[in-house]
Amino acid sequence: MLGVFGGTFDPVHYGHLRSALEVNEFFALSKLLLIPSAQPPHRVEPAASATERLQMLELAVRDHPELTVDARELDHNGPSYMVNTLATLRLDYPQETLLLFIGCDAFKHLTSWHQWQRLFDFAHIVVMTRPGAVIEPIPDFFKLRCCQQLTELASTRAGKLYFQHVTPLDISATAIRQIITNQQNPGFLLPDMVLAYIKQHQLYLRH
Ligand code: ATP
Repeated sequence: MLGVFGGTFDPVHYGHLRSALEVNEFFALSKLLLIPSAQPPHRVEPAASATERLQMLELAVRDHPELTVDARELDHNGPSYMVNTLATLRLDYPQETLLLFIGCDAFKHLTSWHQWQRLFDFAHIVVMTRPGAVIEPIPDFFKLRCCQQLTELASTRAGKLYFQHVTPLDISATAIRQIITNQQNPGFLLPDMVLAYIKQHQLYLRH
């Protein structure tokens, strides 16, 4: 199974990285692709450029060969729609079952994603939850796709919804940007090499 972990990564932090490592191990993935969104369609423009966010991600995983950065969304003009990204991955990895990993917060807004139902044509979706998290009542479209067994995921190529706990780390890129703007130190929330890059490129200094 091939994992797909998309995000704005503005900047990448230990919340992303720890979750990525845990799901990579838990699902015994052949590969976990971290895919920065070049032009996120659902939010205001990122503070750092797509190239800067990509470079920070590459620094973050430099000593972790089990995590792979995939820059395919930077090769496309226009909004980065996950459904299009999954379609290209399906072509590139025709034999693989694709697992799309998203956080609980992203799952709450999934039905606002471009052609969200079609995501299930290409991949299973795994929602990374925290122990004790209450998942809001979910629409029938999702309920029908929920599965409890890993074997169910492995036996089909796409179309299921699975919930997997990861270690909760209450870190967000928004909070990190705010800390930097306030001229405080975000150390230990993200890798030192990423922090050094942020300083060198003078990112996030202004609102
Ligand atoms: P921002 O604060 O700018 O919205 P973010 O920290 O939520 O950013 P994103 O790049 O938007 O980071 O998130 C990418 C993916 O990682 C999403 O699916 C999101 O739910 C998930 N994610 C973000 N932070 C965490 C965290 N602390 N633990 C687990 N997953 C996370």
